[in-house]
Amino acid sequence: MARVYNFSAGPSMLPESVLKKAALEMLDYQNSGQSVMEMSHRSKIFETIIQSCEALLREVMEIPDNYKVLFLQGGASSQFAMVPLNLMTGSGKADFVITGQWANKAYQEAARYGQANIVASSKDKTFSYIPKLDKSEFTPDADYFHICLNNTIYGTRFTELPDTGDIPLVADISSCILSEPIDVSKFGLLYAGAQKNVAPAGLTIVIIRDDLIGKARDITPTMFNYKTYSEHNSMYNTPPCYQIYICKLVLEWIRDEIGGLKKMKEINEKKAKILYDYLDSSALFRGTVEKEYRSLMNVPFVTGSEDLDAEFVKQAAERGFVNLKGHRTVGGMRASIYNAMPVEGVEKLVEFMREFEEKHS
Ligand SMILES: *Cc1c(COP(=O)(O)O)cnc(C)c1O
Repeated sequence: MARVYNFSAGPSMLPESVLKKAALEMLDYQNSGQSVMEMSHRSKIFETIIQSCEALLREVMEIPDNYKVLFLQGGASSQFAMVPLNLMTGSGKADFVITGQWANKAYQEAARYGQANIVASSKDKTFSYIPKLDKSEFTPDADYFHICLNNTIYGTRFTELPDTGDIPLVADISSCILSEPIDVSKFGLLYAGAQKNVAPAGLTIVIIRDDLIGKARDITPTMFNYKTYSEHNSMYNTPPCYQIYICKLVLEWIRDEIGGLKKMKEINEKKAKILYDYLDSSALFRGTVEKEYRSLMNVPFVTGSEDLDAEFVKQAAERGFVNLKGHRTVGGMRASIYNAMPVEGVEKLVEFMREFEEKHS
């Protein structure tokens, strides 16, 4: 059977060469006589995998030495609680920019642990833009300032980071991690669920500045304390071993086959441009987001008719372009074009959209 072009927002495509390598190594990983799924996480051979995974992430993302890389479980959603439990412990205040559903969930969860303040929101226009921020609205003694860097559901992204001064900037980068270079030093903490751009679901990556570790509240569960992971090199308990192994393969793919994050960004910009240029020229389809905030990863669009949207999604799936249905809160379509989506997949999608447009105008 031919592989489909999967435009799902997550879990999403993995690079074909990574899948092939994993398949080759499935029954016998490097003469160990077993798969990575089966081996002890305390074995030398797995230790090498997790260590090289971290080293590769540091290399590819250019993570400064004063940051720890932690491998966790629980998804980005667990970070909505873990961040406040660990960081909201000075003044007990934190600031939030509400740019969509994930940002709002982070805010709501933090509000259970302290004083969570909304600095700005784009809810008035269904999160179709990133609100302008007024520094005078920032809480001067906040423990942190939280943003969602790329809004998976609505298809917007921050193109400029808020200037929070000494207040640690915390960002959910679940749907844009590894899609382009990020200046890690501008952040106190970055977190991401792996299933969009990195690995299968089940791995969560946290990149945290040293000095932010060790401030958790007393009641923080051991497994929700960053210190636990930092002190045990993410091996306090059994880590998501296979996901970490795939993460390592994906990082090797980015470094060796793509040529690093600058190249990755070029490819992602090329893909996004193909789709946005067509949307801007189409008489049938249109993008739903203000141009300057358009995401490189998630591209929502509509025809203006719900029936036609449904017909498009159905016909697209028959042609091998799957999971194009928009999020249930937005409707229409959304094409998620993460790192592993080949340029050719976007070109062929646009070709099909043109065909569909001709038949329906
Ligand atoms: C997918 C996603 C989440 C939720 O991730 P889980 O790993 O399922 O908890 C949170 N934030 C963003 C930006 C996402 O894209």
